[in-house]
Amino acid sequence: MTTLRDILDERVVEGDRALWEPIDRGTSSRQSATEKASGDRIRCYACGHCCPIADGQRGVCQVRFNRGGKLYVPYGYAAGVQCDPIEKKPFFHVLPGALAYSFGMLGCDLHCAYCQNWLTSQALRDPKAVSPIENADPKAMAKDAIAQGARVIVSTYNEPLITSEWAVAVFREARALGLKTAYVSNGNGTPQVLKYLQPWIDFFKVDLKSFDGQRYRQLGGRIEPILETIRALHGMGIWVEIVTLLIRGFNDSENELRQLTEFVAGASVDIPWHVTAFHRDYRMTSAEDTRTEDIERAAAIGRAAGLRYVYGGNLRSRGGLEDTRCHNCGETLIRRSWFWVEDYNLTPEGRCPSCQTAIPGRWARAFSGQITATPFMPSSRSRLVKIPSQK
Ligand code: SF4
Repeated sequence: MTTLRDILDERVVEGDRALWEPIDRGTSSRQSATEKASGDRIRCYACGHCCPIADGQRGVCQVRFNRGGKLYVPYGYAAGVQCDPIEKKPFFHVLPGALAYSFGMLGCDLHCAYCQNWLTSQALRDPKAVSPIENADPKAMAKDAIAQGARVIVSTYNEPLITSEWAVAVFREARALGLKTAYVSNGNGTPQVLKYLQPWIDFFKVDLKSFDGQRYRQLGGRIEPILETIRALHGMGIWVEIVTLLIRGFNDSENELRQLTEFVAGASVDIPWHVTAFHRDYRMTSAEDTRTEDIERAAAIGRAAGLRYVYGGNLRSRGGLEDTRCHNCGETLIRRSWFWVEDYNLTPEGRCPSCQTAIPGRWARAFSGQITATPFMPSSRSRLVKIPSQK
């Protein structure tokens, strides 16, 4: 029987040499004596795991593998294509109201017990995670995004860092048609993958899931590469927004939230921080759902840390936590209801109309309306070919 793994292993290309290197030929400073002696081993740099991979083996993500001393990586398919309001990603300081054409592949380098995209992210680890895939072509996807009215194309749903070659192929075509490009990522990057992405990416959402190294180890990663990625992205001039899914008893202590938000403020007080409500999902079914007062308490901690733009999400707050207000004079600049932009008051130069303060973000000259506040499937999918997948 054909397995999903068989199907995916046919949809690969050789990984970009910016993202891997042999480690048995004296090319890596990280090479150990064991590695030198072990044959056609390579090291992948697409995410912070920096996996050494022996011939015939896979990296932690399961989707990048060594065949004959070369790294092979996912290419030529999509597992989920959807049109989302950009507010859903969430980006609140990027082209408000824009349609974000969103695509995913399969696999992740972490294994969070509360993953909301586990059907795609855990597809090669968890037999219950079944996701159909479709053959896809970068040019056709970019054209489809334009046909839907999108202004941004986003690699999301699985961890995009581990499928960066495919994302860049799509982004090249998208940029040629005038689209902006974005990642929705766990931020477990490396200097190599950020350098590879820098010419092609405009916006980057990072999930900062905790400020506790032990918690990150439970999720299958380390906190250090994520913190480094946030600092590096901001330093590169790529627009960054950060999300923390607030989970009671997991990451909601005052001390942890203070440290986390002080870290973000240390990178830049202008980075928007979204603190969003947890609902039971996947394998985390014992934690209680986040309450409105939890979100409001966390938001207050973020503001006390110096962050200028703090947002609450996944729950209706009582204090207008979905709205953007000028950090200087408090004027309401963008009023939102869930993902719908109700009012937009920025000047064409992206300034507060009241005090003329420049508002950090990537703004259009004018608000040009909003196609939808709820996700929808693109209608012109005939260019993509459905592949039946089996476990
Ligand atoms: S993407 Fe990350 S997990 Fe996958 S092989 Fe590369 S370094 Fe390992």
